[in-house]
Amino acid sequence: MRDETKCLHSGYTPKNGEPRVVPIYQSTTYVFDSTEEVGSVFDEPTKALIYSRFANPTVMAVEAKIADLEGGIGAMCTSSGQAASLMSILNICHAGDSIISTAQIYGGTFNLFAVTLKKLGIECIFVDANDDDETIRKAFKPNTKALFGETIANPALTVLDIERFARIAHENGVPLIMDNTFATPVLCKPISYGADIVIHSTTKYMDGHALQVGGVIVDSGNFDWTNGKFPEFTEPDESYHGICYTETYGKAAYIIKARMQLMRDFGAYPAAHSAFLLNLGLETLSMRMKQYCENALTVAKYFESSDKIEKVIYPGLESDAGYANAQKYLKGASGVVSIVIKGGKANAVKFMDSLKLASNEVHVADIRTCVLHPASETHRQLTEEQLVAAGINPGLIRFSVGLENIDDIIEDIEQALANV
Ligand SMILES: *Cc1c(COP(=O)(O)O)cnc(C)c1O
Repeated sequence: MRDETKCLHSGYTPKNGEPRVVPIYQSTTYVFDSTEEVGSVFDEPTKALIYSRFANPTVMAVEAKIADLEGGIGAMCTSSGQAASLMSILNICHAGDSIISTAQIYGGTFNLFAVTLKKLGIECIFVDANDDDETIRKAFKPNTKALFGETIANPALTVLDIERFARIAHENGVPLIMDNTFATPVLCKPISYGADIVIHSTTKYMDGHALQVGGVIVDSGNFDWTNGKFPEFTEPDESYHGICYTETYGKAAYIIKARMQLMRDFGAYPAAHSAFLLNLGLETLSMRMKQYCENALTVAKYFESSDKIEKVIYPGLESDAGYANAQKYLKGASGVVSIVIKGGKANAVKFMDSLKLASNEVHVADIRTCVLHPASETHRQLTEEQLVAAGINPGLIRFSVGLENIDDIIEDIEQALANV
């Protein structure tokens, strides 16, 4: 099946007389004929469902759909993108380990890696997405367990050279974990370029309608966990009757271990109803992504032609630093355009407040056009000097292009810029 078809049909195939649409299994638990049956599920947890803290049929239908779209062998949904990032790391790292991440990542992930993982004893070493191979290689230590990056970084919009990062990760015997939120599998399938694990905040384009927060981890099944660096995969897990994940589950060791250990213990699993809503978003993902790309390119070109705009960042523009990587890895540059308006913060605020159609909100990748001004919103605690040091221009605006008619979006921008 192609992506358009997978979006509609993967993950749930009703049999004779069953509901056309994946049902909402609103149940915390599952019934068995005998005590012996229940016991056998504890011995072999993939045999049946036992409890909705870590598995539920509605959620599993969505997991199968996303795994299929990404070209992975399995997936596990989480109750937020943050939970997906956290668990993708905790499944392979413990206190005393380190990871390497590009610095061009989502602010919440940066804080998770730099502050919270540090408290748990896991060090994160940051590299620049554009550093040369040698600089990135030098960041590796004997205790390094993963390399992490974003396909299209939020909000920097840098496009990662996935094959290069996969090669460096594999030379060092560790997996490449990619956050594919902004691209979605419709625009890029990182596994096909060598990524081992793919994660998403499904809150963004996958849901698309600003309805519910969620995340997902997808396992390519390609990484060799038996290379000596990952004893938790190859040695008996005393918390599960001495199971050896690579031995029992082979290629699915990572994703099954994530569910059996981390989801069991942390329980950040989505509700069936949330998964049902996410599935509605996924059904139109392929169609929506095409239109987001088309609308955003038009908006980016319009901004580029305005003398009130100092800089436009959009990897779909030939003038953009990420253009070559975008051409290689992406089927489209997605829906987010960053601009630096002339006249700094004052003009940025004036422009934002003059918009009538685009809404001012702390969100991105919604079906409706929305804008965010980091200097006065998400990063408002920083002084002008600190903003510059953090790479955030006071005039920077993140413009998330929606699916309204493009002429209405452009007219709104036009009238708002006229006020600046
Ligand atoms: C929003 C976002 C996250 C965090 O996801 P939540 O669903 O908000 O927890 C992680 N990565 C990227 C790229 C994001 O945009």
